[in-house]
This record gives sequence, C-alpha cells and structure tokens, in this order.
Amino acid sequence: MFKAVKPEVDIQKLEREQLDFWRLNRIFERSMEERKDAPRYVTYEGPPTVNGVPGVHHVLARAFKDIFPRYKTMRGYYALRKGGWDTHGLPVELALEKELGFTQKKQIEEYGIAVLKQFWDKNLLYKGLKVVPYCSRCGTPLSSHEVSLGYQDVEDPSVFVRFPLRDKPGVYFLVWTTTPWTLPANVALAVGENLDYVQVEGPVPNGEGTENLILAASLVDKVLTNREGYQIVKKFKGKDLLNTHYSPLYTFLPVETNYAYVVAGDFVSTEDGTGIVHIAPAFGVDDMAVGKENNLPVLQTVGADGKFIDAVTEFRGVWVKDADPEITRDLKRRGLMYKAERHKHTYPFCWRCGTPLLYFARDAWFLRATEYRQKMIDLNQTINWVPDHVQDGRFGNWLNELKDWALGRERYWGTPLPVWIDDQTGEGLCVGSVAELSQLAGRDLTELDLHRPYVDDITFPNPNGRGGTMRRVPEVIDVWFDSGAMPLAQWGYPAHNQEIFEEQFPADYICEAVDQTRGWFYTLHSISSMLFEEVSYKNVICLGLILDAKGEKMSKSKGNIVDPWEVFNAHGADAFRWYLFTSGPPGEPRRFSKDLVGDVVSRFWLTLWNTYSFFITYANLDGWTPTSAQPPVAQRDLLDQFVLAELHQMVKDVTEAFDTYDVPGATRPVEAFVEMLSNWYVRLSRRRFWKSESDADKMGAYATLYECLVTVSKLIAPTMPFMADALYRNLVVELDPKAPMSVHLALFPESNPALINETLVREMRLVEKLVSLGRAARESVRLGVRQPLADARFAVREARESGVIERFADLIMSELNVKSVGALNNAGDVVMYKLNPLQSLLGKKLRADFPKVQKWVRDDAPDADKRQWGEALLRGENIVVQLDGQDFALAAEEVQVTRGAAEGYAVAEDGGYLASLDTRLTEELIDEGLAREVVRRVQSLRKDADFNVEDRISLKYQAGERLTKAINRFADYIRAQTLAETMEQGDTNGDFVSAMYQPDPDGDPKKDTSIDGETLAIGVKRV
Ligand SMILES: [Zn+2]
Repeated sequence: MFKAVKPEVDIQKLEREQLDFWRLNRIFERSMEERKDAPRYVTYEGPPTVNGVPGVHHVLARAFKDIFPRYKTMRGYYALRKGGWDTHGLPVELALEKELGFTQKKQIEEYGIAVLKQFWDKNLLYKGLKVVPYCSRCGTPLSSHEVSLGYQDVEDPSVFVRFPLRDKPGVYFLVWTTTPWTLPANVALAVGENLDYVQVEGPVPNGEGTENLILAASLVDKVLTNREGYQIVKKFKGKDLLNTHYSPLYTFLPVETNYAYVVAGDFVSTEDGTGIVHIAPAFGVDDMAVGKENNLPVLQTVGADGKFIDAVTEFRGVWVKDADPEITRDLKRRGLMYKAERHKHTYPFCWRCGTPLLYFARDAWFLRATEYRQKMIDLNQTINWVPDHVQDGRFGNWLNELKDWALGRERYWGTPLPVWIDDQTGEGLCVGSVAELSQLAGRDLTELDLHRPYVDDITFPNPNGRGGTMRRVPEVIDVWFDSGAMPLAQWGYPAHNQEIFEEQFPADYICEAVDQTRGWFYTLHSISSMLFEEVSYKNVICLGLILDAKGEKMSKSKGNIVDPWEVFNAHGADAFRWYLFTSGPPGEPRRFSKDLVGDVVSRFWLTLWNTYSFFITYANLDGWTPTSAQPPVAQRDLLDQFVLAELHQMVKDVTEAFDTYDVPGATRPVEAFVEMLSNWYVRLSRRRFWKSESDADKMGAYATLYECLVTVSKLIAPTMPFMADALYRNLVVELDPKAPMSVHLALFPESNPALINETLVREMRLVEKLVSLGRAARESVRLGVRQPLADARFAVREARESGVIERFADLIMSELNVKSVGALNNAGDVVMYKLNPLQSLLGKKLRADFPKVQKWVRDDAPDADKRQWGEALLRGENIVVQLDGQDFALAAEEVQVTRGAAEGYAVAEDGGYLASLDTRLTEELIDEGLAREVVRRVQSLRKDADFNVEDRISLKYQAGERLTKAINRFADYIRAQTLAETMEQGDTNGDFVSAMYQPDPDGDPKKDTSIDGETLAIGVKRV
C-alpha cells in the first residue's frame, strides 16, 4: 500500500520534512558522488553580494541557477556545485573601512595574481597615460564596465564662452562646455574641417558697442540670444580657421610649446554646442587624442583628490564641481561669458559611492583588451544567450565599443598589483606566486599577509644583477578582474589542479541579472578570450528586474519591497520557484507579490496534489500497486491512450526546452498537462476508478494515472524539488526498495515516441471543443448540468470529424449529461437565422429602396429563405433578393448574420463548429434530474459526516410528492451512486447524520438549498 494521503496538506510541513530527509540521507552529496565518473556539467557561481538583506531578486537568481544542475544530474551528468568564489572586493572593503576589520583572502588572492602573471607574460599588461573615468572620492580610476553601472540623469552647467582671437580685438570664438572647471586646462579649440562656420556681428548683449562671434553656421539660430540683432559678415569652412590663435582664458600653468589655436577634430558635430569644441587633454578622451596628434601640452590643473592644485591660485583647493559656479562668475565679470544656462543630461557616477566621475589623465595599468576585440566578438557568436537579443544587443554593442581594461586601482584594500619596478632603470617584472616572491626577496614569505602595507615593504635588488631596487607599484587590481578570473583562480590554475581546471572549463551554464552583461559576463568572456581564445561559458541566462504587483520597481523609499521569507512561510519554496519560472521569459521584468505566488498554490500545486491524493486513495482501496497487471496501452480505453500520448509529447517538449535553456518552455506545459489530467482525464475516468469490479478497464486507468503522476514528479524535480520528491517517494520508493531513494537521484523520464499519437490527440481536442460548446449551449438557456437532456447534435467542419462524435459518443454523453449524440446534418432544424442589412453600407447603395429591402430580409421573408440566405452569407457569398419584381444584390459584408436556437433547442457555435441541445424535457428526464440532485446532496452529507469513500450506508429521507416519485423511479440509481444498502422514507433523527434542504424562509435565492422548490430531509448512517 502507498502511504495514505489526504487532500488537505500543510505545505510548509511537507517542505520541512523533505529538507530533513535530504539532510539525513545526504541526498545532495549523493547526487554528486553517485555520478563522479559521469560526464561533467559545469556551472559557475556569480560574484555574491554581501551588502543588504536577501531580497526576492536573490531568490530569482538562486532558483534559476539551481534548475540546470538538477536537470543535468537527472540526465546522468556530474554537476559539481562550488560555492561562491570570493569576489566581494570593494563592497566588502567599504564595509571594512567602517569596521576596521580585515579579511584573510590570502590564498584566493595569490591565485588571482597567478592569473595576472599570465597576462604579463603575454605582454597584455601595460602602463600608459590615459584619460580614465575617475572617482575623486574613492581616489581611483574605474574600468569602463564599472562606469556603465552608474549612469544618472543630472543637471549641469551649460555655458557659452567667448574666446578672444589673439590679433583681432572684438572678435571671439563662441565655445560651449558643460564642465567649466576644465577651462583652466584648455590648450586648443577644435573645429570640423568640412563644417560651415560664420562670423556674425551684433550689439553686445547687456553691454556697449558691437562684437563679432564665430560659430557653426547651422547653430546660429539656436545659440544666439538675439538673432535679429546679428548679421552674418563672413563665411568659412572649418579648415579656413585652423591654426588661428586665441588668447587663453587662464594662464595658471607655464606653457613652453605652441598652444591656444584652432585644430581639426573629426568628433566635432553640430548637434549641440557651437561647432567649436574646447580641448583640455587632461580631462577628455578625445581631447587627449587631439592633444597627442598636435603635440599640445597636458595641463594637469587638478590633483588626485579632485581639487585644484596650488598653482591654480584663484581656485586652489576647490573641488572641481564646486568650482563651476566660481569660474562662471569669474568669466562673467571679465565679459567672457556669453550666456550661462543649465541642462539635463546623463552622466556617469561612481557605482560605489555615488560621486560624479571625472575624466582624468592618469598613469594607469591596462589590459590590452582591444587587441582581442575581434576574437571576443567572434566567440560571442557561439554563446547561447537567453534572451537572445543580448548577444548582438547589449553585449555585442559593448564588445564593438570595447576599450582597454583599466586594471589598476589606487586604493588600499584589494589584491595588490604584483608588479615590481626598478627604481633606477624602470624595468618591471610581474610576480606570480608567494614562492616566486620569496625567492626574489631571499626569504620565506609564506606567512606574509599579501595585502598592503605589508607587501609594499618587500623590495629586492633587480634580479638581472644591474640597476637598482625593485619596488612594488602602489596599485591594487580591479575587483572585477577577480570575478572574471574565477574559472582559473578557484583551482589555483595554472600552478595547481590543471586536470580539474580543464574538466571544469568552460562552463556549460551561468546565470545572473542582466546588469552583469558589462560586469561578470564581460570579465569572464574577456579573460578567457585573451588567455585561451575560448569562451568561458556556453549558455547564459540574463535575469530581468523584479517589479511589485502594480508593475513598479521595488525600492525601500516606495516601501513596496516584499520580504521573501514572508512568501516562503505563506506558500512554500516550490510555489515561489514555480511562479518565477512560469510568470514570463526570464529576461523580462516580472511582477511579484505574495498573492501571485499564492495563485500558483491554488492553480497548480493543489491541482497536482488533489490528483495525486485521489489516485492514492483509490489505489489503496483496490489494493492496486505498480506490480499489478498492466494491460498493454493499445488495449486500454481511448482516454488512457490519449492522456499517455499527451504525456509523452510533453516529456519530449519539456526535455527539448531544458536542453535549450528555455525555462518557461520546461515548466508551463507541465502545468497545462496537470490541469488537463485533473479536469479532463480524472474527471471523465472517475467512474472507472469508482466501479466495484476490478476489470481490465480499471487496471488500465490505474496504470495510466500512475505513469502520469510518476512522470510528472520527475519532470518537475528540477523546478519544484520538494513536491516532486514527496510524490516520488510515496509513488515509487514506498513500494520498490530498489528504486533510487529520492527523485533527485533518479533519471529524467524518456519520451516513448510509440505512444505519441497525434491523431488521437487531435480528436480528443475536438471532443473537448464540442463538449465545451455543448456546455455553453446548456448555459445559454440556464439548464443545470444535472438535468439530463434527450439529445445533443454537433455540426463540424470536416466530414471525417463526424466519425469522432461517434467514436467518443459515450464520453460526450456523460460529459454533457445527454441520452444520445450525433452529427447535425441539417442545421436549419435547430437554428434560426437573423439577418440585418446594414444601413451604413446599404443605405447609399439602395437609396429609397433600402427600408423595404431591410424590412423584408430582416422580418417578413419566410424562415426557409432566411436560412438559405444566412448560410450563403456565412460562407462569404453574395445573395440576390427578389422583391416587387426587382432584384437586389446584397454582399456578405453588407448583412449582419446571427444564428439563434429554434424553439425547443439551445445552440452555441464557434469557429465553424456548432452544438445543439434538445431542451424539451419529458417527465422521465425531469425525474432523473431530480434524482441526480438527491445524489449530490447525499454525497455532500457523506463528506460532511466524514465517511470514507468506500463506506456503505443506510439512507432515510422525507420529501414532497413530486420528489418522492422521482426518488422511487430512480431508487436503484441513487442507491448505487451513494453506496446505500437500504433506502427508505422515514424520520431522519436518532443515530442518523441528517440534513435538511429547503427554500430560504426570506426568499433569498442564494440561501435556497431546496430541489426545485421542494424540501428534502435526508439522514445517513454507516452500516
Ligand atoms: Zn567613488
């Protein structure tokens, strides 16, 4: 016997017990141990986050990471789970800076260093003066993928400044900038060689006399404050302006080379500004490039702290952004400010501390990523991205625009950059391990804390015997390097574990939020492309945002954050997961709330559980076990064959979805199948389980439902691990001690193509369609489902479909509670056509004749004519109506056609199918309807009395004359249905459990429990 199962279930208790079982029996460990010689399935853990409390998005990521290792384990693979590689880096450091604590990351960092040495050896690590995004608060450059993490919309100054031409008083270049603080570092102005420029003359705004301004011709209207006041006095091409000198606005720093003149820049556009761009090589990537091309000086006016250096006397010590208004004021005072406004734009901020980034020329260490750009682009094409648009979109665009990776960070905490430079010759070397460093330093450094400041004290003579002392460079390494180096570093490769590294590289699958596209997804791809010219991962799922129930972003300030524990405690972990998997494609934002997870419980979880509990209850009653005789599928009921065909098709579909990382595709079909299993297969098969004889039909039903439930338990094992194992252990392990003791140690089900019967599935779908039309027809005349009807007829679209009605006649009759079914040969017998010629289309065409044609076609023509016209119009054909000796042609679209039921019938139609019920009731049909109502009330009383489904009873009743007549007429039927050994009229008191069904005294129809207005008293007793 299976363990007894009740429909009522405590989900939390079930999940806790399941957890205990897994722990006690080491199921997780065994899922790996038992496959240690199997082919490898590799996943990597993303950089774990440590700041903040766990949120729903953490559950999302964990759930998605968990699916595929589970699935692949069930497909016979060994899927090693290796806990999060420590790449906390700066978020942790920031926390530590507050707490003054410290963490021992020695070994891990040594491994990261070993990876870095490989880059050095390949000459991919270099130092150069570069303009880099720089955080003056953190005192460090940021890599471009870090920059991409922190864009915000802000308002900045937008100033138009006069640059006086050197030899032409009263003539100015008009120049636009949003960073006034960079003006003291200006060394040139850039124009587009082929752009058109003009010199305009007009009165000085708010001043005296006239002035001349030079700017791009196309921007004159947009920029000048009083356009009418100016007239164009000269026109130039940009190249005519080259080498024109102007007087620098500021001269804080001494300059010995030629500067302050116009140069060409291919980046100059006329989209905004004035078409003349101010060049400060210290503070812009383009500026630096133009500066190098033209041998311009780099004026570094700002220190590493983001404040003006002492030489900039007027603004010394002022943080650059604070200096913007001061510089603006100064230029106004000197008559050089044409106009000062503010404008909104998107600007990068430090992702760690929120300080606006400065573009800043620094001596910095770089990885030569651009050298491998094409390799990275090519390799990207071999990765399976989910969603697939990330491949050529977000990620592909990123690779196309790739810059060298700024690797050094001028910080204290972090992995020190293991480069030592000769303080006399400038030669450098990269140290790959503590052992190597010990050898160089001539002492054992095994116990050395690899961090600053200790490692900075390690100096040694240049090992080539010449030169001076080797000293470490001050930088530490970008923490994102650690994250990308983890496939190597977690094994200490290449110094250690070569074999296991090769076995665990590349990953078959990784998964993180889509914001990692330019973070971890990139660093992994970048490092593996540069070191091995290989991908680091073959499949990747990028997860979208979690929104609240209204579709708004969750945030502390909005107070709409959902605590995941509340959801676990209310609905369990399985329903939580299932919601995340089925609620949408993983890359899209998804709404989330406790109630949405609750819907999963009522919609899916309980449907499956009730089907399972139904099966266990009846199987135990009949003593059925998986070793009982199993009739061959071909000899089973068509319903069994149908549901097995659906099952095996679903196994095939779900397997394909898992294999292509399509999570909704691996879950939604199971939910649809379980719904069909419960509301179609089990409902229609109830009487087969219920009947007393254990014939082949019943054996077939058990074997079929059993196979469905066991298969479903395995299909959902990767996605609903708790419920899956609870089902599997009772259905399989309970009666077969040789079976794997947990579904997570079992193999994934295989689809049996021989059982996939597309014809049968198509036919059954047609039956479902006809039954649902029949129900709609019954509904249209408000006839209760328990009232038997004499006949149902169906019009179908194709002749071969008529055969389906015959083949499934029993099923359709029982579903619709009718005595006979058949094909409808002449719809005209049961259907009336209503035709309405449309004035909007025919009024103009028929003019004065319209009213009489309309009246004839709509009202007065014989029904036979209307039927003939209606059928023709529905087929899309035109009709000709003869009236008063005249022919009127009406087109299909000009007449609205609706079909209604003829007297004594109810019809419903959809898409060319029609169901018609004969609604004429005989006395016998009415009595049978009443008897069925009685049965329903007895069954519900049995349930209330808590009788077991197999308990036999004696039944007493009291009823009015009409009801009593019906009860007598169908006494055998009522007794058989309710397992009543005796049924008699009489007092229902005493030791009977009794109930009274009657009209509500106040006439409230909702409280009316009577049978068609008649009172019924019944009593039941177990015998
Ligand atoms: Zn910062």
